[in-house]
Amino acid sequence: MNWRDNVRRVEPYVPGEQPNKPNMVKLNTNECPYPPAPGVERIAREMDCNQMRLYPDPECNVLVEALADFYKLSPEQIFVGVGSDDVLSMCFLTFFNNDKPILFPDVTYAFYDVWANLYRIPFEVCPLDENFHINPEDYKKPNGGIIFPNPNAPTGLLEPLHVVEDIVKSNPDSVVIVDEAYIDFGGKSCLELIDKYDNLLIVQTFSKSRSMAGCRIGFAMGNRELIKYLEDAKFSFNSYTMNQPSLLMGAESVKDRPYFEKTVAKVVNTRERVKKQLTELGFTFPEAMGNFIFASHKSVPAKEIFLALKEQDIYVRFWDKPRISNHLRISIGTDEEMDRLIEALTKIVER
Ligand SMILES: *Cc1c(COP(=O)(O)O)cnc(C)c1O
Repeated sequence: MNWRDNVRRVEPYVPGEQPNKPNMVKLNTNECPYPPAPGVERIAREMDCNQMRLYPDPECNVLVEALADFYKLSPEQIFVGVGSDDVLSMCFLTFFNNDKPILFPDVTYAFYDVWANLYRIPFEVCPLDENFHINPEDYKKPNGGIIFPNPNAPTGLLEPLHVVEDIVKSNPDSVVIVDEAYIDFGGKSCLELIDKYDNLLIVQTFSKSRSMAGCRIGFAMGNRELIKYLEDAKFSFNSYTMNQPSLLMGAESVKDRPYFEKTVAKVVNTRERVKKQLTELGFTFPEAMGNFIFASHKSVPAKEIFLALKEQDIYVRFWDKPRISNHLRISIGTDEEMDRLIEALTKIVER
């Protein structure tokens, strides 16, 4: 016996590279290319550093109330955390406590199996069909919980509301978590179902559609009972998760609905024209409903394109994993950034 036998060993999640070069085009972690709402900058400028002496509000009221207002919910139906990664991890800890395996797709957000291993939750993956769609029938077997993103990552495919509802309805004895990190880019949220099903929890983030990845803000929406269990787990773990500047800046960003809608519309517009250009260059991709395109080229291998782009300081995401090793996930940047990408890709695929 040795202390090493007592270590909780984990294979960590590998986040996308965060290079910081002057002229790089960073399209590898699905951040928003536009700044946060103008009010956020004002809050940052007016921040009183003396306030940092004090602990932040453990209940995160300013932020919870701003979100309740935006989504027309009661504050008791909202839980906030340090990015949706924190919220999701808390959900795994709180709701997945069964000997039966939890279920999620084989091609999906790469953090799910990491948390399952960290918390020692058994899991089973359900293969997506050949077009990368979720088959709801796969989720109709005994399980200890279900989680999937909608739109899925990294495929970008959106499942219609009736597919989500079918899964939630068929699993009244499991908590079903729908990770809606990309829902604002054109999908329909399943928020309208939370009053109908007490086992449905929705998780969203400020990192993509609200341009605030650096502030680390995520949230969950569900019925009061689910949210109460999450709160209980959080207060048993770390009462002061959210820092004061993030609470204030996050709340301010939520209050500016017109800016949010305008920003998302710009990203969607750019996505639609880039889709056409990629198609002309010989790329194919599942219908892109997030702020990224999951593309593969008819003749040039993804890895080759990935490396050639990187040489020019254009960063996209590539995974050397089964089923997706010939795909690149390309985040939607500004129009100028996408022009540079298309120009570089044109040379790469035509040489
Ligand atoms: C980006 C992402 C998250 C995590 O976002 P946070 O920055 O932690 O809020 C969660 N789920 C999916 C599917 C994502 O793509």
